[in-house]
Amino acid sequence: MDIVVTNGTVVTATETYEADIGIEKGKIAALGRGLGGVETIDAQGNYVFPGAIDVHTHFELPSMGTISADDFQTGSIAAACGGTTTFIDFADQGKGESLHRALEIRLERAEGKVAIDYGFHVAIGDMTDEVMNVEMAELVEQGVASFKLYMAYKGTYMVDDETLFKSLLKAKELGALIIVHAENGDLLHYLINKHVAEGKKEPIWHARSHPPEAEAEAAGRAIILAALAEAPIYIAHVSAAQALEKVKGARDKGQPVLAETCPQYLLFNTEHYKLPNFEGAKYVISPPLREKGNGELLWQGLISGDLQVVSTDHCPFNFVGQKDRGRDDFSKIPSGMPGVETRVPLLYHFGVNEGRFSINRFVELVSTNPARLFGLAPQKGTISIGSDADLVIFDPRKEVRLSVENLHMNVDYSPYEHITVRGYPVLVMQRGRVIVKDGQFVGEVGAGQFLKRRRIAI
Ligand SMILES: [Zn+2]
Repeated sequence: MDIVVTNGTVVTATETYEADIGIEKGKIAALGRGLGGVETIDAQGNYVFPGAIDVHTHFELPSMGTISADDFQTGSIAAACGGTTTFIDFADQGKGESLHRALEIRLERAEGKVAIDYGFHVAIGDMTDEVMNVEMAELVEQGVASFKLYMAYKGTYMVDDETLFKSLLKAKELGALIIVHAENGDLLHYLINKHVAEGKKEPIWHARSHPPEAEAEAAGRAIILAALAEAPIYIAHVSAAQALEKVKGARDKGQPVLAETCPQYLLFNTEHYKLPNFEGAKYVISPPLREKGNGELLWQGLISGDLQVVSTDHCPFNFVGQKDRGRDDFSKIPSGMPGVETRVPLLYHFGVNEGRFSINRFVELVSTNPARLFGLAPQKGTISIGSDADLVIFDPRKEVRLSVENLHMNVDYSPYEHITVRGYPVLVMQRGRVIVKDGQFVGEVGAGQFLKRRRIAI
C-alpha cells in the first residue's frame, strides 16, 4: 500500500467499525487489520469519515453589483479545512446565452484555483428550443447531471411554469435531476416593493417580504409539476416547515421528491434580524431565516428522512463594504452568508452530540446522499474498495470556537462567532493526498478535478 490510515474507527452511512484503510494510487485498496504501507497515518481515537460533499455553493458569484467574497481558491481551501472534499457550484445561464457558455465561464473562473474536487449544476435562465432539444442532452454527456430553475428573482433568473415543466420532462428523459429554488417570485417582488415604498427598510423586512407561504406555495407547485412530468425533483434550501410539509406529503404518496436544508435554518431564527447596529444584515439570506420553533421541525425532517441532504448555500458577503450597501434599505443587502467550512462540525455537534441522530445518519446527510443523488457514487461519498481515498480524520473531542479568526473563509464575520463545537477534522485527504493537517491547508491549489457526474437513477 502507498499509505495506510491505521487504528481509526471507520464510519459510513451504514456501518461503524475498527479498521485500517489501505490506499493505492489515490483509491481505497484495502480495509482490514494490520495493513502495511510505505507511509502510515495514525487515526487512533478518531473517526474516519468519507470526505464531505457540499452540493450548494456560490463561489465568486456576481450578485447585486458585487461578487461573493470567497473565490474558488479561498472557498475551496476553507471547505477542505472543514472536512469537505467535493463541492458542486452553479453556472447560471443569462438571457441570450447558451448553457455551454454559462458553464464555460464558470470553468474558466475555477481553472487553476480549485483545491478540492468539484462539479457544476447549470441553471436554466433562458429556455430556448436549442436548450431544450440539444444543449441539455449535451451537458448531461459532459457530466452535468443536474439543472437548476429559479422560481424567484423576478426579472433576472426567475422562470415561468412552462419552462420548469419542460425542464422536468427533458430531465426525466435524460436521467438528470431538476433542482428548484422554491419561492413565489411574483409575490416576493410585490412584497419587497410594497415594504420599501412604505419605508419599512430594516433587515427584518427582508424576512417579512419572503413569507414561508411563498416558499410552501412554490415547493407545492414544483412538486405537482414534477408529478405530472413523472420526474424526480430536488428542492434546494428548504427553510420553512410549511414547505417541508409539501415534501413530506408527496413522499408519503411515493413521489420521488428530494430536499436539502442548511445549518443556518436549523440553528437560527428571525430574531437574528433584530440584532442592533445593522448586524441583522449578516443573516439576510434567501429564503430567509424563519420564526423560532421552525428549526426544530427541520431537524425532525432530517431524522425522518424527508430531508436527505444538508448543504450550505455558501454565498458570503463582507459586512463592511458589501452587506452595508443596504444599511438604509434591506432590498440592497447582498443576500447570502458563509458556511462551507462550518457545515460538518455544526451538523456533528448539534446532530450527533446532542443526540438527534446517529453518526451514520450524519455521514449520510453530509456525504453519502449528496454523492448518490448527484451522480458521484460510489467514487465519492463512502469508504469502500475502489472509492476515491477522500477521507476525514475527525477528533470527536477537539473543541473549536467558530469565530472569524479560527476560520479560513474570506469574509469579515462568522455567523457562528459565539458557538463552540466539540468534534472537528484534524486531517483531510483527497485521493490519498493530505490536504489539511491540524487545521491548516497543506494541499495544492489547482489540484481539484472537475468531476463528470453520472446520470441519476432515482
Ligand atoms: Zn443558492
